Amino acid sequence: METRELQLETVLDSVKDGFFMTNKSGEILSFNYSATQIFGYEKHEVIGQNISLLLPDSEQQKYAQYLLDVTNSTFGEQESKDYGVGIEMIALNKDGNTFPLELAISVLPSNDIVLGTVRDISERKQAELSIKSYVEHIETIMDTVLDGLITIDMRGVIHGFNAAAESIFGFRAREVIGRNVKMLMPEPFQSEHDSYLDNYHTTGDKKIIGIGREITGRRKNGYLFPMELGVNEMTVQGKTMFVGTVRDISERKAAEIAIDSYIRKLQISNSELDQFAYIASHDLKEPLRGLANNALFLEEDHADSLEGEGLRRIARIRFLCTRMEKLVDSLLYYSRLGRQDLAVEEVDLNELIDSVAELTLPEETTQSVHLLIPKALPKVTCDKPRVSELFRNLISNAVKYNNSARKEIEIGVKSCVNPHSNVLEQKVFYVKDNGIGIEGRFFEDIFRIFKRLNEEDDSVRGTGVGLTFVKKIVERHNGQIWVESELEQGSCFNFTLKLGE
Ligand code: ADP
Repeated sequence: METRELQLETVLDSVKDGFFMTNKSGEILSFNYSATQIFGYEKHEVIGQNISLLLPDSEQQKYAQYLLDVTNSTFGEQESKDYGVGIEMIALNKDGNTFPLELAISVLPSNDIVLGTVRDISERKQAELSIKSYVEHIETIMDTVLDGLITIDMRGVIHGFNAAAESIFGFRAREVIGRNVKMLMPEPFQSEHDSYLDNYHTTGDKKIIGIGREITGRRKNGYLFPMELGVNEMTVQGKTMFVGTVRDISERKAAEIAIDSYIRKLQISNSELDQFAYIASHDLKEPLRGLANNALFLEEDHADSLEGEGLRRIARIRFLCTRMEKLVDSLLYYSRLGRQDLAVEEVDLNELIDSVAELTLPEETTQSVHLLIPKALPKVTCDKPRVSELFRNLISNAVKYNNSARKEIEIGVKSCVNPHSNVLEQKVFYVKDNGIGIEGRFFEDIFRIFKRLNEEDDSVRGTGVGLTFVKKIVERHNGQIWVESELEQGSCFNFTLKLGE
């Protein structure tokens, strides 16, 4: 080899790109070190071979066409096609494996020599592929998300719009991408949005970033709707972008409005009912007292002419008047329970039950009554007199509706599922007895005013208001009450008191 050629070969071997040289018919004349690395051949294995050795059959035609294009442009010289950038091809290495390659060739017209530069782009292709599949992956995720996702840049221009956003706003992604996100909002949110972005530009102040808020959106058909918007910031290739999460809350808002109006109506009708109960019972009392007094006069002044049957009937009238008066008083009291403000304080339930039991139990019982409190009860925020009344009613019922020789009443606190809400409650108070029990079909009824299950036994049993008061008191303490029982198996009244929570 001549010195000049040797020098040239040394230079070429030190070049990072693969380099080869062929004559016009494709015979390889030169192959540098990097090319041997790329294709896996030793120099002597390729020199003298045809360049087609390095290409799979499927690429031969592409190479020939490329060579032709370059030759024409080189010989013609008139066109300035930029072949320097090269083309991507699939090449074949010594092991028979294909790999992606970037190839740039030029033709020296003077002596029909083809010079080629090659670069193995497997890694780059791999990276491109993984980025592509990553982006596709992200896009698939975005499209399966139920919330609308909108990506915008610092100027408010939309870059991404997922499937949920399409169905919320009625626009296809292609109709909004590249346009300003303001098109999705009515005034004054449009102008506000501009000033948000301006403000962010100048002060860096992120007013709504990370904070969800309710605003009004505008659909393609012009209809406005309430939506919840959360905005997060992200950096994509060094640029600040914002991702807005959008949720259409029309249905929730409509439900909230409906619930609000139901609550208002209920409050009005409740207070009207309380008023009615108060007025009605107040007015009822006067004629009732007149009736009772007249029966008394009859009894006192005309006892002689009335005889046995007459006197018995008058006694019955007086008994019924007294009973009626109790009922009217109960109604009055019930309406007061609903209207009066509670005097709330921190109360030690152990002390409260001690004093209730002291007042309630001795009178109630001629038989043995055992009150059991398995563990100390907590302090609760409540209206003390009302909660005393609550326990008084439950304890006296536990004694009244109990035929056991040894009457047992257990008072405690436990955690259990509240059947009204299906929620596990941590603090459920209960009063449990070993009494006559209650049939399941009456579990709701017993809390109704004047509802009694054992009416035959007038003298012992009450007026059917105790549990109604209990329920009202529980409800005034934001709690709920329910009973568990079986006939002959005792009853357990459970309730929550939630004023302090
Ligand atoms: P009353 O004045 O009749 O006691 P309540 O409202 O306290 O009224 O109770 C309503 C009905 O529920 C009672 O008539 C009774 O039949 C039933 N009841 C209440 N507590 C118990 C209990 N611990 N065991 C069995 N039945 C009960």
